[in-house]
Amino acid sequence: MRPSVAALLARGAGDLGNAASSHSAGRAARRRLEDNRDAVASAAGVGRTAVVFTSGGTEANNLAIKGSFWRARMAGPSRRRLVIGGTEHPSVTRTATWLARRHEAELDLLAVDPAGRPDLTDLDRALATADDVALVSIMAANNETGVISPVAEIADRCRTAGVALHIDAVQAAAWFSLAEVASMAGLGDAGATQVSVSISGHKLGAPVGVGALIGIEPEAIEPLIHGGGQEGGARSGTSPVLLIEALAQAVSESDASASERRRHVAALRNQFVDAVCGAVPGATRHSPRGGGLGLPGHALISFDDVPADALLMMLDRGGIAASAGSACAAGLVRASPALLAAGVSPARARSAIRFTLGWSTTEDEIETAASAVPGLVAAVRSERRHPA
Ligand code: PLP
Repeated sequence: MRPSVAALLARGAGDLGNAASSHSAGRAARRRLEDNRDAVASAAGVGRTAVVFTSGGTEANNLAIKGSFWRARMAGPSRRRLVIGGTEHPSVTRTATWLARRHEAELDLLAVDPAGRPDLTDLDRALATADDVALVSIMAANNETGVISPVAEIADRCRTAGVALHIDAVQAAAWFSLAEVASMAGLGDAGATQVSVSISGHKLGAPVGVGALIGIEPEAIEPLIHGGGQEGGARSGTSPVLLIEALAQAVSESDASASERRRHVAALRNQFVDAVCGAVPGATRHSPRGGGLGLPGHALISFDDVPADALLMMLDRGGIAASAGSACAAGLVRASPALLAAGVSPARARSAIRFTLGWSTTEDEIETAASAVPGLVAAVRSERRHPA
């Protein structure tokens, strides 16, 4: 968490006031809530009503997809196709597959190009006849590989086809300002079809448990949670004003340093990957090096003949918190779906480890990790050759 955000939370921990109450503490909470909504809306360049605060990225994605799908079906029962990127986060893929299983959605999963991005030719195929499309949902950047999607091209195509678009920007918003994300997605452009973007606080230096769906008017989506009608009716429940304040503070700080942070962290990440790949035989880098193709903080590396779960354990013992390409909620390591979708062999995809750097990662930490990894990989390989 950013120190200024932690301080804000500590200062506000004793605050009273339900933003829906009419007493003076409630009215003060309401003012804080709406001031922070204004701040996020203006950072994204959208109207103040087009920001719905949620519990995080998962809920924002669920709201965008289910909420838009149900509305589209109500408007025209033939609109039941969901066009989904081929390497989306489970909060998108599982929402879409649930809608297919329970609510007659038709799933149209896009192909992935060799660079790991959504294949635009396949998107053209999907949009060639778009009368039955309820929503296109594509991530701005992948959580495993850091690969950045061609969001502006995707948004152009959706606009031309007159189809609603949702962009999962949970990862991208950690590295690009909200204004940059909004401009790629065409949020608020005149003539644009419905476009929404999801963000999550804990990727920006705010606490876990807060996020937002931005760009869509609350009355344009079916709510998932019914109750007191908060968030314009799109998301009932007493507003967590302090968490929302923390999110707005993190957005403002993160936005102010985005381009400098990209440059600085990409240099550290490349230093780490070069050191590891130079020192470990059979190490392959899978995340893009830069040039606008990948997020700066991702270092996805596979190691020949090293199962990811064994290396993760060694890394943890060495004080390095990494993850496998994909870890499910039960903590089991599966072959990285993003790498499989991009055509990487299952054996390699099972040996991929994701090291991620954040805004606070230091050069010292990078040097320590880079010098520890070769020995830990060698230890796993030796254990496999000579099991105890
Ligand atoms: N989308 C992407 C691309 C993510 O990486 C994540 C979480 O890491 C999410 C959605 C879910 O966000 P949250 O953890 O806020 O629910």
